[in-house]
Amino acid sequence: MTANQDLKQLTTTAHWISGQPVAGTSDRFSEVFNPSKGEVSGRVALATGAEVDTAVAAAKAAFPAWAATPPLRRARVMFRFLRLMEENLETLATLISQEHGKVHADALGELQRGLEVVEFASGIPQLLKSEMTENVGTEVDSFSLRQPLGVVAGITPFNFPAMVPMWMFPVALACGNCFILKPSERVPGASLMIARLLKEAGLPDGVFNVVQGDKVAVDALLDHPDVHALSFVGSTPIARYIYQRGTANGKRVQALGGAKNHMVVMPDADLDQAADALMGAAYGAAGERCMAISVVVPVGEATANALREKLVARLATLKVSHSLDQTAEMGPLVTAIHRDKVKGYVDAGVAEGAELVVDGRDFKLAGYENGFFLGGCLFDHVTPEMKIYREEIFGPVLAMTRVPDYATAVKLVNEHEFGNGAAIFTRDGGTARHFTASVQIGMVGVNVPIPVPMAFHSFGGWKASLFGDHHMHGPEGVRFYTKLKTITQRWPGNARAGAEFVMPNMK
Ligand code: NAD
Repeated sequence: MTANQDLKQLTTTAHWISGQPVAGTSDRFSEVFNPSKGEVSGRVALATGAEVDTAVAAAKAAFPAWAATPPLRRARVMFRFLRLMEENLETLATLISQEHGKVHADALGELQRGLEVVEFASGIPQLLKSEMTENVGTEVDSFSLRQPLGVVAGITPFNFPAMVPMWMFPVALACGNCFILKPSERVPGASLMIARLLKEAGLPDGVFNVVQGDKVAVDALLDHPDVHALSFVGSTPIARYIYQRGTANGKRVQALGGAKNHMVVMPDADLDQAADALMGAAYGAAGERCMAISVVVPVGEATANALREKLVARLATLKVSHSLDQTAEMGPLVTAIHRDKVKGYVDAGVAEGAELVVDGRDFKLAGYENGFFLGGCLFDHVTPEMKIYREEIFGPVLAMTRVPDYATAVKLVNEHEFGNGAAIFTRDGGTARHFTASVQIGMVGVNVPIPVPMAFHSFGGWKASLFGDHHMHGPEGVRFYTKLKTITQRWPGNARAGAEFVMPNMK
């Protein structure tokens, strides 16, 4: 778009409230880009506090009937939604690639991982089955229920426009809650398509709502007395803020933050396997993944030298192209601002004395010269004091930090501020077992570079990568989106003890 084109001519992504798109009344908008072309492709409305109130009111009104809907019927909505999503995968993946810049196959991959949570949530009748004890006292039985919280909200980042919302809402809805999604304003498109398909799947109006927006919408959700829980995924400073403000307002909060994931490579590892794994884990999605490997820690000089050689050879053939090129392995970054920020980190690494072995800063794609591209970058001799080691870069930049022994590698991993993911590559079972047992990390891989738990396990990091007590989806997701109630009951029958004035006990 040229500078003098009127923003009003652009397609505007709207909100979704009470089962329909709502244009909104705000006069604030944010630009949406096509990162491959480097052009503005549309705009998104930024909700006012009043629009958030309308969405919460719609969700609150829909809650009693939805909570009372038998879990099996709620599961059937999930089954139909799953089918509709599968029928629309190509369209959704294309939309995600165009707004985010990730390559089409990767967009399909994120959709698949998200739909696995829908599959998990479709088993909600089984997941909500409770515990029961007969005769906790004479003719007294006890059982527990997991009941929904009410209106809950999800605030999501730009890097997974469909998967991260699907970490949250399928479980929340299946448990009987009503949901408000506040997607990233940089990639708003997928949320509306999801909302439409949920309606088509038979979800009653008001049960799922979308408010597009920025801090104004987020703060309105954080302060709203009718929002009972907040799930957040994004950067650490915002995750910390969401947790502090949300819990101060008495809400249940799970806030997942940033990451700096290490991969330790032992001298006995299969180095070709390790190098291949690193290529996908460091440069896939242009490094814009919270589980990307951004630091490789080879143990011993010989391991480091051999691995470096293999990485340099592979980087020479890394295919960087526009997101709809079916042969592309890596696309552009999400915005020019983010691309420049990542470039700034590379400059900082050079200034701090790290060796920039492969420099992707001048990468240009013919025909897409304005795209937000950066080639893959590889640093060697990165030390723990350097900014490029300490901070999350969130781009296609891999740092190699050499260590003399395994103990130093573990110390590095454990002393880092973040604790999202870590991996070890080795053939030695004892080393692997020690690593998995002792690292201060939420998700750990053994010869698996991106150990993202499947939907029926739970996703979450430690340290500054997660604020709150519950990880997402899987059993932890069900616990997060439900309250436990325990019932103790006795029916008029044979056992009559008369009035009791001491604490009931089984003496
Ligand atoms: P971000 O923190 O900038 O934004 C996340 C969400 O918070 C967005 O919806 C945004 O609108 C909102 N937001 C931004 N600033 C805010 C403010 N000041 N007040 C209130 N709300 C605000 O994150 P991002 O750039 O969209 O996503 C990238 C980050 O997300 C990276 O740090 C990445 O590691 C992290 N991430 C973490 C995980 C995980 O599972 N731990 C998964 C994906 C992404």
